Amino acid sequence: MGDLQGHDFRGNQWTGGGGALAGHEDLHALAGSPRVEVTSKNDTRLEFGVGGYYEPDTHTVVVPEGASPAVVTHELGHALDQHLGMDKNTPFTATADFGVAYRIDQERMDVYDRQLLGRTSYFGKRLEAFAEAVAVARTGEGAGVRGERFTRSFPRVLALVKEKLSGQPRSTWTPPTRVR
Ligand SMILES: [Zn+2]
Repeated sequence: MGDLQGHDFRGNQWTGGGGALAGHEDLHALAGSPRVEVTSKNDTRLEFGVGGYYEPDTHTVVVPEGASPAVVTHELGHALDQHLGMDKNTPFTATADFGVAYRIDQERMDVYDRQLLGRTSYFGKRLEAFAEAVAVARTGEGAGVRGERFTRSFPRVLALVKEKLSGQPRSTWTPPTRVR
């Protein structure tokens, strides 16, 4: 536990403050106020792909000291996925609502983007696509890929995530049907 670019996590509670991460307190609350642990960059629990880690069993976000806002919001995204889910074993990304958007985006991704973001990539996992969409929606950048590439590759996933972040009811979302 410690200071993260101006944010204090005293007693594992997000206490706000200045710095690069200011403005994401609402996301933390929306995600069910997960425990936030700041650790060493050498912590072996840190996710290989993007530099952070989320533990569903304890609803804990683990990020290294000096983590970028994209990494922190990506990990808060995993917590949000779990919090929006139906139960412990069914995160939001396991529901049909997310599955439809994810599948269409995967099918329509161009060949080049598919190499980096397709089903055989890191983002072939639904939960990683969701978490990265949260990072892109909140910071404009992904933790593992550039925001611009993610935005053009996952337009429906991103729209759905933005809806969830806005707290708008599901009924306001109409699945896009046209190819861009
Ligand atoms: Zn992740």
